[in-house]
Amino acid sequence: MTSPIAAPITQDVLTLPRKLPEGGRTNLVGLTRDQLLTTLVAAGTPERQAKMRVGQVWQWIYHWGVRDFALMTNLAKDYRALLAENFVVEIPEVVSRQISSDGTRKYLVRIAGGHEVEVVYIPETDRGTLCISSQVGCTLTCSFCHTGTQKLVRNLTAGEIVGQVMLARDDLGEWPVQGAPKVETRLISNIVLMGMGEPLYNFENVRDAMKVVMDGEGIALGRRRITLSTSGVVPEIARTAQEIGCLLAVSFHATTDEVRDQLVPINKRWNIAALLDALRDYPGLSNSERITFEYVMLAGVNDSNEDAYRLIELIKGIPAKINLIPFNEWPGAPYKRSSGNRIHTFADIIHNAGYASPIRTPRGEDIMAACGQLKSATERARKSRAAIAAEAGL
Ligand code: SAH
Ligand code: SF4
Repeated sequence: MTSPIAAPITQDVLTLPRKLPEGGRTNLVGLTRDQLLTTLVAAGTPERQAKMRVGQVWQWIYHWGVRDFALMTNLAKDYRALLAENFVVEIPEVVSRQISSDGTRKYLVRIAGGHEVEVVYIPETDRGTLCISSQVGCTLTCSFCHTGTQKLVRNLTAGEIVGQVMLARDDLGEWPVQGAPKVETRLISNIVLMGMGEPLYNFENVRDAMKVVMDGEGIALGRRRITLSTSGVVPEIARTAQEIGCLLAVSFHATTDEVRDQLVPINKRWNIAALLDALRDYPGLSNSERITFEYVMLAGVNDSNEDAYRLIELIKGIPAKINLIPFNEWPGAPYKRSSGNRIHTFADIIHNAGYASPIRTPRGEDIMAACGQLKSATERARKSRAAIAAEAGL
């Protein structure tokens, strides 16, 4: 056999022994650079060229948004054929897209196995935020959250997580056009892991997906433009800073363990004190990289002045911002939204103690795209059939 190093590329590709991936072609989306390198080598890319090939393929997929190997024109024809024979560049399929009267877009997305997740794009004057999902449903059962009423079907793969960003870029027409001047304003300028699922229960896939999204050669969103929201999976919190480096949001929602046990049941495993200890130790914590405390405003449950004062005491010493989220109702929800006056009074107390306390404007309510309203349409349909049956006394 000729040496793979000395032989011309086309021949290397055709002569190197390669094992075809089991069960069809491998999807390249979501592989980290290291994984992509190993994968390309395993398919017959000569080791010596592997790094360069990774760079080229990476740029096509993540910079230009190209999915068809035939269009990767700086690669030799035979090499393109080898890629096409072994791999696909595949992202989840958009089943439906709804656009709210406020411009918010909600995509219902189908992933392998026929499962569905939702992705929400929220345009604002100075930014555009994409809210992505990390799991189908959620194993946790926060009592105010619609997603929590759906049984977990499975974790998303890294490819399915990156794919959500790619499909939104497709829809918004955000891939650069070859030869056209560079567009500096970004439609998707921020990503929040605040869709369906608990991202820290799918840590490795979320981490790998964010590595792809943050890579400077492709989608290139900086680590400070990504916020991961957790309900409080304490043992994974430090890793979030160390291995992803993104900003952190915590679904705090209550100021006593008694109430938090009810609202965010993971509190029974890691209570407020344990959570706050982990946050105080969050690596890299500073005033410019504050932790966001999310606090859903539920009438008569967690919205008293005493709650506001207790909250200030609890978070003392932690660089923090408190996002107040007016509760978004969903069919059958056991809570009501606090009144506007109550929310403003609560916000003022926190603000006067020196913390930013923005009240989040609900977005996309008319299409059930607001925080905590997400739930796969199929599940919703199943639920409403059950509800109809119950009403009919069946
Ligand atoms: N599982 C993660 C991320 C997804 S939820 C987490 O819980 O942090 C994103 C945010 O929306 C969380 O702060 C969550 O508590 C909040 N949320 C859930 N249901 C809500 C609802 N019905 N109204 C307002 N906010 C809600
Ligand atoms: Fe899961 Fe977050 Fe909803 Fe709780 S609030 S059920 S952790 S998605």
